[in-house]
Amino acid sequence: MNTFSKNLPPGYMGKILIIDLGSKKIKKEKLDPEIARLFHGNRGLGVAYLYRHFKRLEESGKYKNAFKEVDPLSGDNVAIISTAPSTATKMPTSGRVHMNFKSPLTSGYGSANSGGYWGVDFKKTGYDMLILEGKSEKPVYLLITNNSVEIKDADVLDSMNSEEIQKHFKEDSPKKMQVLSIGEAGRKLSLYANVMSDKGRTFGRGGAGAVFGSKNLIAVAVSPDRSTKISVSNEDEMDIKNKGGSVYKAKVKLDVGKFTRKEQHYGSLASMGSLGLAGMVNNFDQLIHNNMIDTNHELSDIQKVDGEALRNHSKIAGAGEDVIEVKKDTCYNCSITCKRKTTVKNSKGDVIDSGEGPEFETVALLGVNLSIYDLPLIARANYQANRYGMDTITLGSTIAAFVELYTLIKDSN
Ligand code: SF4
Repeated sequence: MNTFSKNLPPGYMGKILIIDLGSKKIKKEKLDPEIARLFHGNRGLGVAYLYRHFKRLEESGKYKNAFKEVDPLSGDNVAIISTAPSTATKMPTSGRVHMNFKSPLTSGYGSANSGGYWGVDFKKTGYDMLILEGKSEKPVYLLITNNSVEIKDADVLDSMNSEEIQKHFKEDSPKKMQVLSIGEAGRKLSLYANVMSDKGRTFGRGGAGAVFGSKNLIAVAVSPDRSTKISVSNEDEMDIKNKGGSVYKAKVKLDVGKFTRKEQHYGSLASMGSLGLAGMVNNFDQLIHNNMIDTNHELSDIQKVDGEALRNHSKIAGAGEDVIEVKKDTCYNCSITCKRKTTVKNSKGDVIDSGEGPEFETVALLGVNLSIYDLPLIARANYQANRYGMDTITLGSTIAAFVELYTLIKDSN
């Protein structure tokens, strides 16, 4: 329930958690009701507070044009992670959470969004938003509960990659905590490092992981009282058992499609994951190739890596070829179910590697862009990128740009 103000719209907790990693000061502030009313949480709310942060830096006299002048890898940059009034309610797809920052990759506005469960558990610790300021001298992680906020030494996470940090908090801990984590890419300030949430869900774009790394922040674990209730304006509307209610109607609309049509005729996100988009984008001649020099692919090549190929991989893989086994999965309260847990096995049935994805964007940029039409290989590259904590979109684009430049230089000699 919202604890600080009765003037807020329902759904908000009313509190912001502000952590200065340099001074180790931890502040709890009221959510500004005016800003809360203007934006429906998430990205808009975060942008308003991002603006406020840079405005205050100017008012302090340190900068004339703070957003332009602040080094994105300095303690004066900020990472603002915001939920929405609907987060952690019964509303479908209400697990999504947003991060705003100045992007180290573009020096412009940085914006990244993730599904999963972290946002839900963070909100249930009693906050709408987490603002991360300053820069710690040593690597640290945060542990946030309903009653405490701790900045802890991250030595214990030192040898772990991003995925292992997820496992450490989620699977190996008795509390099964949700966690945000960075990998080696973030620690080494790769400009396209991501922040991972929920193993394969990521705040992927713009270098959010480098902002974490520059602050020496390795992970943010949340351990809420999961019985925490979110206030809503009309409980009946949100009740899945109320046949006249919005949540029931939204779920039925999705389920009617699922149960009355053939899987391949239903929305491609549900039936094939986001990779279902590959065939469609290729049909429109829009699928990137050779660093966007062209969009030319053989249809038979695309059919090896599209959504149908992933869904049926164990049936279509040839003799002696690696096979991908696929399980459907989903984020918090989302009946779209576009998430795919995958395992790559060799032809003898031995597990080579496992993880999530590949998503459409990974197959497009890190696969067919580079003329790689081998789905198990792309999946394995995806798993490794997740462990290092790298955005697969910019990773693929960077390799493609390198190949183009290398070819140009080679051909000119
Ligand atoms: S399962 Fe897919 S559609 Fe649903 S919230 Fe997660 S990423 Fe989004």
